[in-house]
Amino acid sequence: MKTPQFSNRLLAWFDMHGRKDLPWQHNPTPFRVWISEVMLQQTQVATVIPYFQRFMARFPDVATLAAAPLDEVLHLWTGLGYYARARNLHRAAGIVQERYKGQFPLDIIAVQALPGIGRSTASAILALSSDQHHAILDGNVKRVLTRFHAIEGWPGKTDVEQMLWDLAEQHTPSQRVAHYTQSIMDLGATLCTRATPSCERCPLSDGCAAYEQGRMSDFPSPKPRKTLPVRATTLIMLRDSHDGILLVQRPPAGIWGGLWSFPECPVDEDIKTWCAQHLHCRITASETWPTLRHTFSHFHLDITPVHARAHEINGIMEGSNTIWYNPASPKALGLAAPVQRLLTQLSGDNHA
Ligand code: SF4
Repeated sequence: MKTPQFSNRLLAWFDMHGRKDLPWQHNPTPFRVWISEVMLQQTQVATVIPYFQRFMARFPDVATLAAAPLDEVLHLWTGLGYYARARNLHRAAGIVQERYKGQFPLDIIAVQALPGIGRSTASAILALSSDQHHAILDGNVKRVLTRFHAIEGWPGKTDVEQMLWDLAEQHTPSQRVAHYTQSIMDLGATLCTRATPSCERCPLSDGCAAYEQGRMSDFPSPKPRKTLPVRATTLIMLRDSHDGILLVQRPPAGIWGGLWSFPECPVDEDIKTWCAQHLHCRITASETWPTLRHTFSHFHLDITPVHARAHEINGIMEGSNTIWYNPASPKALGLAAPVQRLLTQLSGDNHA
């Protein structure tokens, strides 16, 4: 299929069926589109919408976001996962505020230089907010292009990715770039879906190699499998006599960086001894809960939660990275997802 035909068909389909009412499509400033694109990087539209609305209500512009404490940004991100995105947003807002006087840059090189913004996200921000001529290549677009052109090989492989970028650029029209960008993302999200593509309703079916060969499920080729290593840890859910629960803020780098969590004890250590040595308190009762698995991109973490009651806790003072958390009137904190789940379970369980 010649390139103008590809984009013309997508644009005609977009005019009839494309999504035009998403919150970030109203007043699509570079700032609003930036936030939405970062939220959408690993998360579906339906999940993102309420997060986006809360975020915009609290941080309507770069200056507000740059001036906010990171903790508040992480709090509004709690549940979305991939917290490096929120930390990068906050850092990037500081840079935009300082270097560009709060005006989000409109130059692709400057946008790509901001933390957390890769080539595709930078292109999407400028195409969707300013109709600039840039091609995007997110997961949806990769799926559409690998199927349409029957591209073999995992799209994360350098040569395959380069081929996809070339095709993405060839297909991007010089007019109506914002609508075209939205249309190819929409097609991937609504018709050319991972499990059951609706080819009979697709504007690209005539000319789609995967459809013609009946091989839709062969594309995109999966990532070569690698067994993830398993790590284990013990999280100590320590209560004081007022039912406060001890939370500590994790270091900025590493897993759950900057988020609040329970104290973490190595699995081969005795809890009582560890608490005495590291928290300077005495455990009088403890109960081990069933192990739960949390999977990161590069390893599984098997978490054994231990619910414990502390006495003689004079050694544990509230400070900048330690608090006694009260589930009845929770503070606005960024919490790792399993920690939030365990806190919810703890609120219904006052015994140890
Ligand atoms: S015809 Fe099917 S496989 Fe091809 S682009 Fe359309 S939905 Fe995807």
